[in-house]
Amino acid sequence: MIVDQQTNLKAYLKEYFGYSQFRGNQEVIIRNILNRKNTFVIMPTGAGKSLCYQLPAIIQPGAAIVISPLIALMKNQVDQMNAFGINAQFLNSTLTKTEMNRVKKETLEGKIKLLYVAPESLTKEENIKFLKEANIQFVAVDEAHCISEWGHDFRPEYRKIKAIIAQLGDEVPVIALTATATPKVQLDIQKNLQMEDADVYKSSFNRENLYYEVRPKKHAKRQLIQFIKQHKGKSGIIYCLSRKKVEEIAEFLQVNDIKAAPYHAGLDAAIRIQNQDAFLNEEVDVIVATIAFGMGIDKPDVRFVIHYNVPKSLEGYYQETGRAGRDGLEGKCIMFYSHNDIQKLEKFNKDKTVTERDNAKILLQEMISYAESSVCRKRQLLHYFGEHLSEDCGYCDNCIRPKEEYEGESYVETVLQTAQQTGERFGLNHLVDVILGRETDYVKSYDHDKLAVFGKGQGDEETRWNSIVRQTLLFEFLEKDIENIGALKLTDKGKQFMEASYAVSLTEDHDYTDLGEEEEPDTSAATNGNNNIPAGNIKSYDENLFDALKKLRKETAKKKNLPPYVIFQEPSLEEMATTYPTTKEDLAAINGVGMGKVIKFGKPFLDLINKYVEENDIITASDVVIKSTVNKSRNKIFIIQQIDKKVDLEEIADIKDMEMEELIEEIEHICYSGTKLNLDYYINQVLEKDQQEELRDYFLNSQTDSIQAALEEFGNDYTEEEIRLMRIKFMSEYAN
Ligand SMILES: [Zn+2]
Repeated sequence: MIVDQQTNLKAYLKEYFGYSQFRGNQEVIIRNILNRKNTFVIMPTGAGKSLCYQLPAIIQPGAAIVISPLIALMKNQVDQMNAFGINAQFLNSTLTKTEMNRVKKETLEGKIKLLYVAPESLTKEENIKFLKEANIQFVAVDEAHCISEWGHDFRPEYRKIKAIIAQLGDEVPVIALTATATPKVQLDIQKNLQMEDADVYKSSFNRENLYYEVRPKKHAKRQLIQFIKQHKGKSGIIYCLSRKKVEEIAEFLQVNDIKAAPYHAGLDAAIRIQNQDAFLNEEVDVIVATIAFGMGIDKPDVRFVIHYNVPKSLEGYYQETGRAGRDGLEGKCIMFYSHNDIQKLEKFNKDKTVTERDNAKILLQEMISYAESSVCRKRQLLHYFGEHLSEDCGYCDNCIRPKEEYEGESYVETVLQTAQQTGERFGLNHLVDVILGRETDYVKSYDHDKLAVFGKGQGDEETRWNSIVRQTLLFEFLEKDIENIGALKLTDKGKQFMEASYAVSLTEDHDYTDLGEEEEPDTSAATNGNNNIPAGNIKSYDENLFDALKKLRKETAKKKNLPPYVIFQEPSLEEMATTYPTTKEDLAAINGVGMGKVIKFGKPFLDLINKYVEENDIITASDVVIKSTVNKSRNKIFIIQQIDKKVDLEEIADIKDMEMEELIEEIEHICYSGTKLNLDYYINQVLEKDQQEELRDYFLNSQTDSIQAALEEFGNDYTEEEIRLMRIKFMSEYAN
């Protein structure tokens, strides 16, 4: 169908979809595909991408093929189209033979306008034969980033699409669409679909109403409750990495009186639909989900998207956060970040093929750079998708709480010189190796140790140079060479800078090392031995109060002739300096405290906090006292009961289907929360009296309760298990 400017597409839009106006590029894109031209659409989530192929398919004779990666997504779209009275069907493995035949017959009769096909079904011989006979208007490749192995969602079968389209006849135009593509991925898609000539329509990815923030993952559950309570009654999505975590967090929110429901692929389909509907109908405020949730869901008033775990790539991250604030109003996007999560993701990549692993590593590296950088978040995100923001957004955490800047002119100069002297053919790591003067085999094989710039930056640390190179990219002195993956080359701006340099402000990265407890000990797998790790330079607590509490702890310990950690552990003090507990109940809810300790040691601490709060006019956050999940406490009660009955620990572990190590960890949590446990009946079986004496003396005089330190002290005299048991006995006797 050849359309001219006079063809009234708006009338069709009104007739079929009820809208009076097109959004953004929709109309020009539709005209382009109606003129049978190859078309490439890059449009952020929620901007009306699907309409670009739906409308032209409806108004022309014949059917359009829509290739889509997910069966659930297909069904969703088909349902939507059918609701508009449009005949759309899908062809995939869920259909019976009869249904399949009916769909084929209706397609050949020209009754079906949109035929959704999974790439796997497309490659089947019988389907190719049928499609050749049908009147196909064009092929739409949705979620086209799945074609590229450089992207985050690669599907090998997507790379076969072009060969099949070619069999349908030369003249079938293709429209490829994606909501996420870096310049590199875009090029890869076009090459693979042999549509380098396509007209490209790229919408801006800048969503001004979205607020971006990265938070250190420390006491993350408490932060979660605090945040959600501040946004009471508003819709939000929390993304977790695993199904297990989804269940855990959903349950945790529920017991804390938040209307939350889980969503992941492992749930029964009926429950999944029920939870999704409850979220759409606002019976549920918060949906806790794996990334399986959200595709094809268009809830306009999602007010926050929280990533409880670090996502695998910025592509996925941007797409997921794009579900916030689609109505143009408030949309907060918070990510919890920890090196621990990064390590987990790295572990997942272990089983992948070499290429997949390398690509996943690059994507993850970009994620790390984003999180740790103190440059404007939006500037970074948009730069990643090939868009340049000339000014900071003024509305992200880094803009609102800027880090101190330093003068970077000579640093930028060094980086640019290094890129130039190495022929603009190398990536970040190599450039930094040269700058730091590292004589690696690789550096030597290129004679880069003979360059003038070699070793020029030895005075600064690697992390700083990494950060500087990334900032030269963000400020467009360097750019990624998309033909030559990883290589960084000079831009015109960079070349000009080398001729006449000028002052440049750079910022230090955030430091996320030594975060300590990620979650509250109740559910965290971390052992108490690690609790003494200081919080690094990220202090979310009130330092003055913390210092006062620490001083009080020291005095109390001296009076009672006990090591300070026996009174309260440092993370507990930090938490007190964060939430200002002013009643016995509030204090007992602090991790590692419990009512037992409150009664024994709590009074002077409560007095101190109350006085401090009053003097400093602080509003206490007693409403964010978190409750632990029911199952967990049930487990604990069971263990306490069994120990009271003097049941052997092996037997308890057996009944609860736990490893011995897990059981001891659980017992430690119980003990560190202030419950007295008498394990003598068991310990007497494994340790002699004098051995017990030796270990008790050690803990009484040690400055730390670290298991590692005890193991070092005693060499191979005791096993870790024995030391842990004695620590529990010691804490029960002296601290609880
Ligand atoms: Zn900003």
